[in-house]
Order: sequence, then structure tokens, then C-alpha cells
Amino acid sequence: MKAQPKASHFIDGQYVEDTSGSVIESIYPATGEVIARLHAATPAIVERAIASAKRAQKEWAALSPTARGRVLKAAAAIMRERNRELSELETLDTGKPIQETLIADPTSGADAFEFFGGIAATALNGAHIPLGGDWAYTKRVPLGVCVGIGAWNYPQQIACWKGAPALAAGNAMIFKPSEVTPLGALKIAEILIEAGAPKGLYNVIQGDRETGPLLVNHPDIAKVSLTGSVPTGRKVAAAAAGHLKHVTMELGGKSPLIVFDDADIDSAVSGAMLGNFYSTGQVCSNGTRVFVHRAIKEEFLARARARTEAIILGDPQDEATQMGPLVSFAQREKVLAYMEKGKAEGARLITGGGIPDTVSGQGAFVQPTIFADVTDAMTIAREEIFGPVMCVLDFDDEAEVIARANASEFGLAGGVFTADLSRAHRVVDQLEAGTLWINTYNLCPVEIPFGGSKQSGFGRENSAEALTHYSELKTVYVGMGKCEAPY
Ligand code: NAD
Repeated sequence: MKAQPKASHFIDGQYVEDTSGSVIESIYPATGEVIARLHAATPAIVERAIASAKRAQKEWAALSPTARGRVLKAAAAIMRERNRELSELETLDTGKPIQETLIADPTSGADAFEFFGGIAATALNGAHIPLGGDWAYTKRVPLGVCVGIGAWNYPQQIACWKGAPALAAGNAMIFKPSEVTPLGALKIAEILIEAGAPKGLYNVIQGDRETGPLLVNHPDIAKVSLTGSVPTGRKVAAAAAGHLKHVTMELGGKSPLIVFDDADIDSAVSGAMLGNFYSTGQVCSNGTRVFVHRAIKEEFLARARARTEAIILGDPQDEATQMGPLVSFAQREKVLAYMEKGKAEGARLITGGGIPDTVSGQGAFVQPTIFADVTDAMTIAREEIFGPVMCVLDFDDEAEVIARANASEFGLAGGVFTADLSRAHRVVDQLEAGTLWINTYNLCPVEIPFGGSKQSGFGRENSAEALTHYSELKTVYVGMGKCEAPY
């Protein structure tokens, strides 16, 4: 098989197998071919991963942050050297075009290791608090063994976005990739060992919704960081609450992208296309509710349609391909059902709306799709589709569009395109979301915090902020005189 790893899990510096775990087939969605066959972790594998992570964490936390940072920066350098190989694997794992994975997947993972490796030595300092004669100091200490649970849309990036800050802060991590994309994280674990991390510091175990709870409910796990859907988030947060564990929740969205009538239309169309079609629309922060001012709506739609119909769909391994299949056939069924709902509920289909007839083979392809005249009540305007389906809604004035944009249970992201500087800031100030863009969309460099509000989750990834979610403060009061008591 094309992408069969040496074994299913990577624990304590080596590949480990336990064939008694249920079978996980990795399917290349561009062809339907089974490219690897793995096994979900059994309780014995989970225990082995946790025991080795506990050992490694003690050794790792005893190093200076500079020494830890050196290992993370070495991992970043190895990832960059192997960018082509890692990108090819990511393309097989997800079906995303190599044109994208070469610039967006292992590279953003490497950015995370480089960034957190760089700030480890300076961002974990505590404070000195003078109290007259007495004084106190604070220390930022690691949590212990943290668990990362990944979604299938950015398998390598998620493995690194969780691993890099966790390790920089002195924790160990056990990462469980999505069962749909089990391959990439194993390579990250291998690379960390090569970079000099202690064995067991970053273990990868495979599994599905049955395996996740074995980790979340384990008493030796200090924190769980999940990237996934809102229903999964609720279950994981509830289970973690039962043990009062730390949690970070990176969940779904239905983000608004507002285009005012003074916007540069081509730029706004670019933003809307990036925010709906990149990674075949499988991006949590996508601006899937595109509110376009009525005065420019038809012009916007005409330009968006022409550019959408020119998108090159096809073999993800061909560098000319701009859009690959969806991640799985199950995801394609879901997205096609939403397209049918859009038609049935009266949205105007501008382009797409089904399976393309131009793509050869048996892949999970759908057409990049634009619906216009979408209303707030339609299912396609309310639910996360996670496919290349742009919904265009009309609006007339600023107060109205802000209220409608906020009328969602989600609050992950949002954006505004306008030439009016004051309006841009006024509008983003009122949008209820964790990450917002002005005159661009979906750019997430590691330097800026990323995460949601409302049902889209809590906690932040990236930036120095992420370190606060992988550490806690210890306060030490120092008495300088005699200890007095009233009795
Ligand atoms: P999912 O919720 O089905 O699964 C996510 C992960 O959770 C998988 O690894 C799965 O095995 C695991 N899991 C499922 N049930 C579990 C349980 N009870 N306990 C522990 N683990 C469990 O999500 P998905 O379909 O893989 O990914 C798509 C979703 O992820 C979308 O909603 C998308 O918006 C969201 N997402 C969010 C972000 C973000 O940063 N906010 C990024 C990417 C994807």
C-alpha cells in the first residue's frame, strides 16, 4: 500500500503495533484507493503512551527553556528540508492539491515549531511582586501530559499547532489524529525524535470516537485540546469537566464575510473565494455567509462566477490542480445533501451544485458552488457545510448586516471588505467572533492568536497566548520576618 507506515502508533521513540485494535483504513479520496491500514489504540496502547509521556515530561521540563527551544527549532528545520515528502503525504492523507500542501501544511507546522522554539526562552517568565518587607514571585509551570485530538482538514498543521506550544511550555503530548487522516502526525513524532526530543515526549496513537474518551477520562492527563465539531466539543468538554481538566476547544463556524459597496470588488471576490474554496472549502474559519451590499451584488456574483468556473479541479498530485476532492466519500454525501437543500429551499444557483463531470476517476469530487439570494433562515446559511459552497446574502445597511452576522450560535471568525477605515474597525468591533480580518480573509500566521467565541470554542492557539493555555501560574509568598499569629 502506497502510504503504509511501519506501524499504527509512535510511542516512546518507536513505531508500535497492536493488531487487536479495530482496523482503520486510510483512503485516498481522489481515487478511493486504500493507501494504508492501521489499528485503533487498545487500552494497553493508551496506557503505554501515557506511561512513556509521563517519564519524558519530567526529563523535558527539567531542561532550560532555551534548550527545549533548540529542539523545537531543529524540528522546524527538518520539516522544511522534507517539505516535499511531507506535502506529498498530506496530499495522500487528505486529497488536498499538492499546490496547497507545499505552501500551507508542513510549512505552517514548521512555523509553529520555529515560533514557539524561539519564544520559549523569553515568554515563560514569572513576576516579582514587592509587598513591603515580604515579597512574592510567580512561576509559569507546565501542566504535565497534554492530549491533542485532531480534525481531518489540516492533520499536520493541527499536530504541530498543538504540539509546539505544549512542548515549549514543558509538557509532553499524546496526539490522536482524526481516524480519517491518520498518517501525517506519525511523521511529526518521528521528526521530533530526530531533532533531539526525549523518547515519549510526543506520542501519536490512532483511534476514533471510542479511543478519544480513553485519553480524556484518564486521570494522568492534565489537559485536552480538541479541534473538531461542536457536538464533539460538547462531549469532550463535559468529560474533561468531570475531572476538572484544562481544555482548549477549536470548533466549527459559520462565519460572516461582509462586502460593502465601496469595497474593491476583485479583492472582495478573492477573499470570498479563499474563504470558501481553499482546501475544497474544508476550513473551520471559512467566511461561508458572504453578505454583499445590494448595490454591487450582481457585479460581485458575475466576477465570482467567472473565476469559480475557471478553477482547475483534478488530480491532487498534479501541481497545476487548484482544487482536489473532499476528504472522504461520507463528506461528499453531506456536502451534496446541503447543495440539494439550498436548491430546494429556493437559493439561486449561480454555478456548480453537484458532481463535476470533467474529473476522471472515482474521487470524492464536488463542484465549487455559489448560491445567491440566500436568506438567513435557509439551512445552508445556518449550518456548517464544510465543503466548497459559497452562500451570498444581500444587505442594505451596516446596522442590519451586523445584527444578521451575529445571529448565529457560532463565533469563530469574520471579515469585512470596505474602503472606509472607520467603518472597517467599527464593524469588526461589533462582530462576535474570535478572529477577524479587514480587507483580506483566512490568513493565520503563527504570530497571531487564533480561536473562537460562543459555540466555536474557547482557548487560543498560536502566538504567545497559546503558552498560557499550556501552563499555569505558581505563586510563592516569601515571608522575610517572623511569622506572627493572633493565637
Ligand atoms: P469531529 O468532531 O468528528 O472529530 C474531531 C476529532 O474528535 C476526531 O479525532 C475524532 O476521532 C475525535 N472524537 C470524536 N468523538 C470523540 C469523543 N467523544 N471523545 C474524544 N474524541 C472524540 O470533527 P471532524 O469531522 O474531524 O472535523 C471537522 C470539524 O472540525 C468541523 O466542525 C470544523 O469546523 C472543525 N474544525 C475546527 C477548527 C478550529 O481551529 N476551530 C479547525 C479545523 C476543523
